[in-house]
Amino acid sequence: APAIELRGISKAFGPVQANRAIDLVVPRGTIHGIIGENGAGKSTLMSILYGFYRPDAGQILIDGKPVAIADSQAAIRAGIGMVFQHFKLVPNFTVLENVVLGAEDGRFLRRSLARARAELKHLAAEYGLQVDPDALVETLPLGHQQRVEILKALYRRADILILDEPTGVLTPAEADHLFRILRSLRDEGKTIILITHKLREIMQITENVSVMRRGEMVASVRTAATGPAELAELMVGRKVLLRVDKGPARP
Ligand code: ADP
Ligand code: MG
Ligand code: MG
Repeated sequence: APAIELRGISKAFGPVQANRAIDLVVPRGTIHGIIGENGAGKSTLMSILYGFYRPDAGQILIDGKPVAIADSQAAIRAGIGMVFQHFKLVPNFTVLENVVLGAEDGRFLRRSLARARAELKHLAAEYGLQVDPDALVETLPLGHQQRVEILKALYRRADILILDEPTGVLTPAEADHLFRILRSLRDEGKTIILITHKLREIMQITENVSVMRRGEMVASVRTAATGPAELAELMVGRKVLLRVDKGPARP
């Protein structure tokens, strides 16, 4: 069964139909892009998967089994980890405290802080997510705050990692580093959903991509078999001329 499957997910905010009968199939161990222009409904869909919104209709299946995601604890239990566009870290807590105490689920609180520190160190080394466990999170650069978000998800044993516009706050070097981490997580069987409006990132790292436009999922395709021009056309609903980056002008 796919790692995650959505059937007919709909969500309206008053007159705005943010998600309209969304279907999605994400195979395990793949990096799956969700691309769409601003306002297409990507963050709404992600919020439903993390239990922030109840959908008006539709079904979520994890490993082929229907699950009810009533709140973020249910999402964590279902193996979903979220890396938000605007990080949800507790500002005057350390990295370690954020990773451990942020996990409200009693299962995690029962692990001792010493064991948590050891596990954090192990995860950080394994995935290249180095960050000082005793630093206050608000003193860290944004790229490191994002590492804490990823560590939090891995600490909670997430099998499915969802990232909403994760490179927006990163330098190009940090973005490359993040993509290396995502590939190594994928290679060990985790499932990654990358939400972005940047075609370049979709081409760079995803195996499959689903395109959202005005609340609808208009296509799900193999990235390599599709290409940027076709994806851009799906995003906006008409042919577009892609800007070609010719590099710096010559003097
Ligand atoms: P994206 O992440 O693709 O930019 P969103 O899911 O944030 O899109 O938004 C989709 C649509 O739903 C937009 O028209 C947005 O204004 C609307 N919307 C999103 N969240 C809310 C909300 N909490 N209340 C009212 N409208 C919302
Ligand atoms: Mg938006
Ligand atoms: Mg968004």
